[in-house]
Amino acid sequence: MTTDAGTVAVDEQARGQRPRRERGERRSGQQTRPLVLPSTMTVQYLADVLNQHHIDVIKQLMRNGIMANVNQLIDYQVATLVTTAFGIRTSMAPEPDAAAVRSADSPDGDNEEDLVTRPPVVVVMGHVDHGKTSLLDYIKNSHVADREVGGITQHMGAYQVEAGGSPITFIDTPGHAAFTAIRARGARVTDIAVLVVAADDGIMPQTIEAINHAKAAEVPIVVAINKMDLPGADPERVKRQLSENELLVEDWGGDIISVNVSARTGEGIDDLLENLQLVAEISELKANPEKQASGVIIEAKLDRKRGPIATVLVTDGTLSVGDYLVAGNASGRARALINDKGKNIESAAPGAPAEILGFGSLPEAGDRLIVAASDREAKAIIGRRERSNRSTLSQSRALSLEEVVNRVELGDVKELNLVLKADVQGSLEAIRQSLERLVDEDAKVRVLHTGVGAVTESDVLLASASDGVIISFSIGTEPSADRLADRMGVEIRPYNIIYQLIDDIELALHGMLEPVFTEVVVGRAEIREIFGGRRGTQIAGCRVTDGRMVRNGNVRVTREGENITQTTISSLRHFRDEVNEMNAGTECGIILQGFNDFQTGDMLEVFRQERARR
Ligand code: GDP
Repeated sequence: MTTDAGTVAVDEQARGQRPRRERGERRSGQQTRPLVLPSTMTVQYLADVLNQHHIDVIKQLMRNGIMANVNQLIDYQVATLVTTAFGIRTSMAPEPDAAAVRSADSPDGDNEEDLVTRPPVVVVMGHVDHGKTSLLDYIKNSHVADREVGGITQHMGAYQVEAGGSPITFIDTPGHAAFTAIRARGARVTDIAVLVVAADDGIMPQTIEAINHAKAAEVPIVVAINKMDLPGADPERVKRQLSENELLVEDWGGDIISVNVSARTGEGIDDLLENLQLVAEISELKANPEKQASGVIIEAKLDRKRGPIATVLVTDGTLSVGDYLVAGNASGRARALINDKGKNIESAAPGAPAEILGFGSLPEAGDRLIVAASDREAKAIIGRRERSNRSTLSQSRALSLEEVVNRVELGDVKELNLVLKADVQGSLEAIRQSLERLVDEDAKVRVLHTGVGAVTESDVLLASASDGVIISFSIGTEPSADRLADRMGVEIRPYNIIYQLIDDIELALHGMLEPVFTEVVVGRAEIREIFGGRRGTQIAGCRVTDGRMVRNGNVRVTREGENITQTTISSLRHFRDEVNEMNAGTECGIILQGFNDFQTGDMLEVFRQERARR
């Protein structure tokens, strides 16, 4: 199911009404118009219009004492708690915007009777040279319904074929890297993964990687045992190897469908397509073609004559020529839509791919597409996104182990997702087994993928797409993967000692890793006079202005609001007596540990660190 917003909030100005000027707008020189929100909306919708991760929206709500999940409906007042925190002014749309209202009970807020079955979106994965491209090509050339237009000639990132009277959409970029890259950007497009395994070669490292990527995405797998025409084909060996990788095919007592095929002779391909339809049927893929489109950009390129061209996969609603579009930081109007057979079309239905002409700039693969009410509204959304990108740019995006655990405790993630890389198979197994034994009442470890060898870009994408962390044991990281991890904010934690690794993860699970402390101010005092003490020490004669002074307490010295130093109170006196505490309104003498350079008028602030509840 996609979580895209079906439409965008209605803008007052876009409707030809004058926006109400808010107080302070003129004085502050801010001419930006308020963000118009419906009276009720889902958390996901709010996250979408703010261009924030839904987790960050949920966190803000929690800070305000509101527990909500991503599909929950919140009202305008509650939403403003979040928008205020992000520094965004809002106003309420005059009418409830029905399309913005989505709840988990009725999928995407649609009426049951509006929902129709949509075609499945299928990706092909597997080891290099096992025949992914050949399989996609065979299917493309043999199952095109619209023969008049000469079949699928151009590459546009996805195409649709007819099998048994119903369409199936294939993503035309084989391999799990592309699949996970789109997922890493927060979009879900794929419904089924076809795992291609060459019958003569068997399971290879990238086969395992593909299995793990599909499993992490919780996408059902259909196995295609390819190259059955070769004399060395041994499908039974492949099935056994699959079982060793926790993928039990039907012959082996499991529920994974496996089909013997040959991309060369075409053997078994109809059978494969039929089975894909079957899995799609079980998955009950529904969409509402009556509403405005939402979708995911799967490819974008700049054409010298026609300008930016983006391929979108419509995930819900119907995309039509003339629609105002927003995807990532690009907006535009659908000047023309072209289907996978190179034919101009008026509209694209749910599950269909289409090329869009009319974007002003290039969106990126993985960007979510939404339809705006007008050009102005589309531009306003982009403006807000740019501002919010700028304001979040300076913040670290790194999803550290701790951050991941935070998410666990937010109730959003029940598993701590890890990608595990090591120098040798032996350590991998040992680490994996120890990790999987660690169970906390709230969370457990889920090892998404293990592999021998350096951390690769694919590992980073997988961790990113699953909000996970990478553990590398006695092994380095490929430079390109390091850069990608930086960019995507994925933490790679290197270890050389197994028990340290296990300890850290255990601590993380118990929410005790690198605890977060917040500071609590205990009291403040002003330095009124300075006395000379013994052996050159200076005594600050103070008046406690609020709270209390505490002997041995942590103290900060500030001068005109500026921090001078931070130390502890080594002596606290009331007249001649050494005391433990002095309360507000009293006078006392204070000696600071290792610091004499205070002046009259300086402030002392006693504070303590308190472990923050996560
Ligand atoms: P990819 O790397 O997984 O996309 O693999 P390709 O589709 O490029 O195929 C790799 C090689 O295997 C090519 O030389 C193909 O011609 C060959 N190949 C693919 N499928 C079959 C098949 O079913 N039978 C035979 N005999 N060769 C195949």
